[in-house]
Formats: sequence, C-alpha cells, structure tokens
Amino acid sequence: MNLLTDKVALITGASRGIGREIALAMAREGCAIAFTYLHSAESAQCLCNEIEQLGVPCQCYQSNAADFAQAHDIVNRVQSQFGHIDILVNNAGITQDGLLLRMSEQQWDEVLQTNLKSAFNFIHAVAPVMMRQRSGSIVSMSSVVGLHGNAGQANYAASKAGIVALTQSTAQELGSRGIRANAIAPGFIATDMTNRLSEDTLKQFVQRISLRRAGQAKEVAQVAVFLASDMSSYISGQVIQVDGAMQ
Ligand code: NDP
Repeated sequence: MNLLTDKVALITGASRGIGREIALAMAREGCAIAFTYLHSAESAQCLCNEIEQLGVPCQCYQSNAADFAQAHDIVNRVQSQFGHIDILVNNAGITQDGLLLRMSEQQWDEVLQTNLKSAFNFIHAVAPVMMRQRSGSIVSMSSVVGLHGNAGQANYAASKAGIVALTQSTAQELGSRGIRANAIAPGFIATDMTNRLSEDTLKQFVQRISLRRAGQAKEVAQVAVFLASDMSSYISGQVIQVDGAMQ
C-alpha cells in the first residue's frame, strides 16, 4: 500500500519510541518525513538514514517542542525545504511523576509545557500552511490517563486531557478549511518511557490489560498512519484508544 504517497509529515519527538515507529510507518507508505528531537542526536541521524533507505526524503531538526518560537522556526524550515506540510504529529512527551502534594511547580510546568504547550505551538504554526492548502491531518498523542486520571501523574494526566480538548477545538475551528484533527490515547506501550517502571508496577499494569500484554510502538504507529491518511477522511475530533482493552 502507498497510503501517504507524495505527502509530507512533520513529527515531533521521533528520535525514539512511538515517534520513531510513526516516522518509519509513514515513510513505508511513501511519505517524506521531517522530525524533531531534543537530546538524542545520534538516534535521530540513524533514523534519518534508515528512512532515506526506504526511498523517501527525510530531515531531522534539533528543537525544543515546548518553545513557541522554535516550533514556528521549524515549521518555516520544513515548509521551505519540502514545499508543503500535509501531516502534523504532536508526539513529543515526557513524564515527571510524583504524588500531587509532593509535586514541585517545576515538575508541573515542564510536563505541561513539553506535552501540551508543544502541541499548541505546532498547531499554531502549521495551521496557516494547511489552511492555504485547504487540507491537512493533525494527530496528537494523548493517553488513557488523560481520559481517566492516574494517581502519581496529575501533571501528565492533565497535559494529556488538555490534548483531547485541544484536538476537539482544533477540529471544530479548522474543519471548514479541510483540516482534520484527532488524538490517539495509548495505554501501556513498551518504550523507554515505560521501561523505567519497576517489575511490580509492570505486572500490575499487565493484569489490567485484557489482551494481557504491553502494546508495541508499531501498534500505535499503525493508527497514526490511518488517521493521517485519506482512509480516515471523514474522521475528525476523535480520540482513539490503543490500549488492549485496559480496565
Ligand atoms: P519516549 O520517552 O520513548 O520518547 C519521547 C520522545 O520525545 C523522544 O524522541 C524525545 O526526544 C522526544 N522529546 C521529549 N521532549 C521533547 C522536547 N521538549 N522537544 C522535542 N522532542 C522531545 O516516549 P514514548 O515514545 O513512550 O511516548 C511518545 C508519546 O506517546 C508521548 O507523548 C507520550 O506521552 C505518549 N504516550 C506514551 C505511552 C507509553 O506507554 N509509552 C502511553 C500513552 C501515551 P529525545 O530523545 O531527543 O529527548
């Protein structure tokens, strides 16, 4: 299949984990890839090489997604380098867990800025480009904890709930210009983010998943490809849970 032939995708935070798999999955569908990273320069360059070997152009940019000016600069650079931007994936995210009463202001601010403000920054920058094209698909990474909350993750859960409201508002504001906006709410996916958890916590999580296993980043990437492609041309303002029926 070539679901994304001739399209250009901009993905935030694709040097590792889910973002990396989204970049690869979209490239396999014929999409040119632009992606950002913050620290992992070596992994980013490896991914770029891997994507170019698939026969599509790729460019990576070191940039802090939480910074409004940097996000606008990246969108300008991608636009002038690739000519158009058809897909935006707001994927960059971090955790800084702790119980609410012990959470510092810094823990709150850093998580909200990296996970939620980053999505605003990039939607704000890319919307005029997509409006001129009269088409575009925006996919943002929420989380099941953004739908239900999670003890010890008030900052992270609030940021991911914010992604849902931002997605719905974007879909309503930009739908008349041919732009769709959707969110993915993954459950427990095996990446560096979840590798940090203890054996006990991992076991407890798996007990809550009906499919009795952690999800793979690839399984989230497949949904991102669907939402980015014309296969989902009448789907907007939605949140798709990819969680193996987590209870
Ligand atoms: P990882 O920790 O494996 O990867 C995070 C990626 O985000 C890295 O590429 C990192 O780049 C990048 N990043 C972090 N901060 C910034 C920043 N300020 N600017 C630009 N890039 C940044 O996370 P996952 O792959 O697990 O998670 C991806 C997304 O999915 C996140 O939004 C996360 O909240 C969400 N999610 C994950 C779940 C899971 O179970 N794993 C469950 C639900 C949601 P670098 O390496 O260069 O720092």
